[in-house]
Amino acid sequence: MSAPAATTPRAGIQIEPTLSVAGLKKHFPLKGGLFGKSTGTVRAVDGVTFDVAQGDTLGIVGESGCGKSTTARLLVDLIRPDDGAIRLDGKLVGGDLTIRDLRRQVQMVFQDSYASLNPRLTMEEAIAFGPRINGMPETKATQLAHSLLNRVGLEPRRFAGRYPHELSGGQRQRVNIARALAFSPKVVILDEAVSALDKSVEAQVLNLLTELKAELGLTYVFISHDLNVVRYMSDRVMVMYLGQVVEIGPVDAIYGSPTHPYTRALLAAMPSMDPDKRTMEAPLSGDPPNPINPPSGCRFHTRCALADGVCSATEPSQQILATRGHLAACHIAIRGSGHRLAEARA
Ligand code: SF4
Repeated sequence: MSAPAATTPRAGIQIEPTLSVAGLKKHFPLKGGLFGKSTGTVRAVDGVTFDVAQGDTLGIVGESGCGKSTTARLLVDLIRPDDGAIRLDGKLVGGDLTIRDLRRQVQMVFQDSYASLNPRLTMEEAIAFGPRINGMPETKATQLAHSLLNRVGLEPRRFAGRYPHELSGGQRQRVNIARALAFSPKVVILDEAVSALDKSVEAQVLNLLTELKAELGLTYVFISHDLNVVRYMSDRVMVMYLGQVVEIGPVDAIYGSPTHPYTRALLAAMPSMDPDKRTMEAPLSGDPPNPINPPSGCRFHTRCALADGVCSATEPSQQILATRGHLAACHIAIRGSGHRLAEARA
């Protein structure tokens, strides 16, 4: 894995991002037939690059199968990348940062709160388990578990001795958050972490996450199919389509002036509380194409209402737009690309 360390422009100062990802790739071979021969490759993550500044939340959105959860799993080393570089505070994972350190410093909270917990461990044991196997004395690990239970709003006297089946989904997710915090991580990846909760519980857990971020200086990667929740939680938003980043930028720019036709279609399909802004038709028709054999050129061209000749022939590079740190990969944004709507080359 190799790529130069990136910097994030903020208020005119170049600062080292907490998390920096460059050219990340994960392709899954498909095997079939009698002898398990390779029959194709799923390009789940195909050259993904982004930075997350310290204390920021990067929201990741896209339809299912776009590669957002595979990206999350690559970030916590649940699966190994085929190519690309991941840096934490400038240290290269697998180089000057060991995988063991990465697993401590980057924690993940999953959607399924029940499957994430061992049914045979009490809540106290579940939280203390990680620190204990990393060398913390038992008494200290138990004290830590109690203080974290308290911090996530579960009174230790009532909850420390309970088993996962004795808790509600929201309570279990609070325990999973406490478990992640037991490692004092720098980055927490939240993969659809509130999606299975009902709306009132979801709001409480989101508020807890916001408080913890401010209090502990955490950096989040927040993955969700719910664009309203992503807007509420994120400082920056990354839009993925078929394993690639099609647009990334500050939350206001993505929601206020989206540039990529896919981002615009996703946002147009978002339910609005304002009756004047409701769309009756889903602007995105059909399913994404097969990631085994993605379309040539711009991968969105088979569904894009603005596609032109150049779109199927040439893959668009990411273009920096007017707002700092706002990038989109679309031929319309590329001066002189040959797309009928692009500005002519100066
Ligand atoms: Fe649509 Fe072409 Fe832009 Fe792709 S490059 S999003 S097909 S206009």
